[in-house]
Amino acid sequence: MSFDECYIKSVMRTIPDWPEPGVMFRDITPLFKDPKALRMIADSFIQRYIDTEVTHIASIDARGFLFGSIMAYQLNIPLVLVRKKGKLPGKTIHREYALEYGTAAVEMQVDAVSKGDKVLIFDDLIATGGTILAASTIIKELGAEVYEAAALIDLPDLKGSELIQQAGIPVYTLLAYE
Ligand code: AMP
Repeated sequence: MSFDECYIKSVMRTIPDWPEPGVMFRDITPLFKDPKALRMIADSFIQRYIDTEVTHIASIDARGFLFGSIMAYQLNIPLVLVRKKGKLPGKTIHREYALEYGTAAVEMQVDAVSKGDKVLIFDDLIATGGTILAASTIIKELGAEVYEAAALIDLPDLKGSELIQQAGIPVYTLLAYE
């Protein structure tokens, strides 16, 4: 089944002014109620990363987990978690990043990836790019290489995907909202 951007956008839902005024929230939950949409998206990512050197998928809390785990299963490679700080047990490493107001932090377990691993970072959406850049810093600090950053949606006006690419990380997304 080939990827049909119009179809996916017709299934997605945009909630204006949520979770705060001025934000157009791109809600992916309807995609999971539509097996055709889910399959189209999962198949597109699997096609891209099958027969590549990717060794691990690092999926980002929480919506990144949804497609990330499907991909890891189909590609038969490990899934590791990038979680909001304070959610993972054991020895962890975290990095903070700036939000419009204040900061946030993501965290990984120190044995999630290591030298020689080629890691695909996966999230549902790239806005400012802060989350993916913080995740990539942790992955590099653990000695692994970031192969690429992938997301279903790009918000190019916020220039996050540009920033990630400027940091030397290729970016792959399936659809954009200007
Ligand atoms: P950023 O770090 O700014 O690239 O933000 C990316 C993270 O925030 C992703 O995990 C998204 O799920 C979430 N996010 C940011 N903006 C939106 C939006 N307009 N709609 C849905 N999710 C968003």
